[in-house]
Amino acid sequence: MRVLDVQNLSVQYHTGNGRKKALDEVSFSVERGETVGIVGESGSGKSTAMLAVMGLLPENAEVTSDEISVCGRQASPERDIAMVLQDSLSCLNPTVKIGRQITETIRAHKKCTRQEARERAEELLDMAGIRDPKLRMRQYPFELSGGMRQRTAIAITLACEPKLIIADEPTTALDAAVQAQILRLLKRIVRDTDASLLVVSHDMGVIAALCGRVFVMQSGRIVEQGAAEEIFYSPQQEYTKKLLRDAKGSEYFPAGGRDGEVLLRLEHVTKVFGTRDGIRDISFDIRKGEVYALAGDSGSGKTTLARILTGILKPDSGVIFYKGEKLETAASAGAWRGKIQMVFQDPYGSLNPCLTAGCALSEALKAQGRMTAKERWKKVEEMLSLVGLSSEDADRYSEEFSGGERQRIGIARALISEPELLICDEALSALDAAARAQILELLLSIQRKRGIACLFISHDLALIRKISSRISVLYGGRMAESGETKEVCSDPWHPYTKLLLNAVPRPDLPNARKARPVLPAETVRRKEREKGCPFGELCGHAMECCCSEAPGLYSFGRRKIACFLYSEEHTGRRTKGYRMTSQI
Ligand code: SF4
Repeated sequence: MRVLDVQNLSVQYHTGNGRKKALDEVSFSVERGETVGIVGESGSGKSTAMLAVMGLLPENAEVTSDEISVCGRQASPERDIAMVLQDSLSCLNPTVKIGRQITETIRAHKKCTRQEARERAEELLDMAGIRDPKLRMRQYPFELSGGMRQRTAIAITLACEPKLIIADEPTTALDAAVQAQILRLLKRIVRDTDASLLVVSHDMGVIAALCGRVFVMQSGRIVEQGAAEEIFYSPQQEYTKKLLRDAKGSEYFPAGGRDGEVLLRLEHVTKVFGTRDGIRDISFDIRKGEVYALAGDSGSGKTTLARILTGILKPDSGVIFYKGEKLETAASAGAWRGKIQMVFQDPYGSLNPCLTAGCALSEALKAQGRMTAKERWKKVEEMLSLVGLSSEDADRYSEEFSGGERQRIGIARALISEPELLICDEALSALDAAARAQILELLLSIQRKRGIACLFISHDLALIRKISSRISVLYGGRMAESGETKEVCSDPWHPYTKLLLNAVPRPDLPNARKARPVLPAETVRRKEREKGCPFGELCGHAMECCCSEAPGLYSFGRRKIACFLYSEEHTGRRTKGYRMTSQI
């Protein structure tokens, strides 16, 4: 039975500059119990097609179609279709507790008492893999991690008992380990409920892991369609081949700068938030012109570190040096902050919707107070062209740009004040493979030309491997392993680094469908951190000592590793000249 049937769907926007075609006679369908993928770069029209099906396009959109039907009748999206979006924080109401958000959805779809709705909500959270649903029901969205928020959004989706779930980039903002959990959850939901799943993604890895049939979209048209095997093993269109090539990411960007002068040094920096995440005893240095990577899953403390470096948070203990100067006084911290700029993950949230792109960039310069309005504007135009946008884009508001374009503005805003250190916090993870490659190339060419150091924070080890010279892998707020990126990624010594490398989704069918190692929910991991090795419960190599004490950091040349497998006291004395190798 056909659950969704869309025939010749076209959309055009009426804008101040005339009509703009977004979709051109697009047709696709989903059968009952089937998982179908729509894949394409950002701006290819995937999300517009989904919003048109849901009836959620803005008023200036003109929609025409021969048919949009669900289960053979005209679509009633609010009843039959539910959507899981990429940005779970913005689709949950920040001022309403999780429990109420789910029970309200249940009661809007079904006649039942409050108590019955509450019981059903607990059941749905449990189904979505959230431990201790009673506790979570009493919390606000900001109290949950990214993965848990996405699970909550999925639970709300299930509350509607939809015939079709549309998952629009459901795992884009999540790290590899949580991504694997969510993909598993979506698979299970399709298997256990009567719902069909339509996955919209730029990520060939996600499509390979989930979908049986695939539609490829380019510039508002479907250019290729077929069974996943046909698309992945014998793509016909050049565009599909390019998507697959981009996803495999064969291009490497040789990293430099590792021998430069030390720009920033952290020594034993600790910041804890009671029972919440934090970082403990983190030390590393970043050199001039170097790309240094921080890797780890959500809750590993990467963002806490970025916040400390940008001055948003103050460490509880430890010292930070900038160009050899201890950063303690407010004055030195102020001067330091101007030299460190950040590119955020969420280009939607980091740009002020009330400002045009030009104003957003000009504001960043205004804060420095060194230029006249005319000079500022000239610099804004220069920056826009540097990031591949035109000077006309200066008059557009953030909502008029695609995700990739917004991120270009985010980069231009960070670069406009000529920083010495750029912190990129998951800056590319919301972009499709092609946009990611373009922006990465742009970012790195500017970084090299200007000798800017870059702290690249990401869960994407495949990307980190290509661009950084040195890496620190964090787990549970502690350093697990650090060293030269090439060595760490090609020959991981820490069990967690190995797990993280294995969790990277791959755009080839056999690998994508293999059961990948999955880390459990963060709630469990937080408790483990209190005592013993933070990775203890999950480690296949754990010894007795791992439960009672946390390992220190052992150094072997340029590699540092926090694991008892590398300590003399727990694995026996070494003879002189012993050369340590991976113990896993
Ligand atoms: Fe595993 Fe023990 Fe090493 Fe921790 S210290 S990673 S538990 S072997």
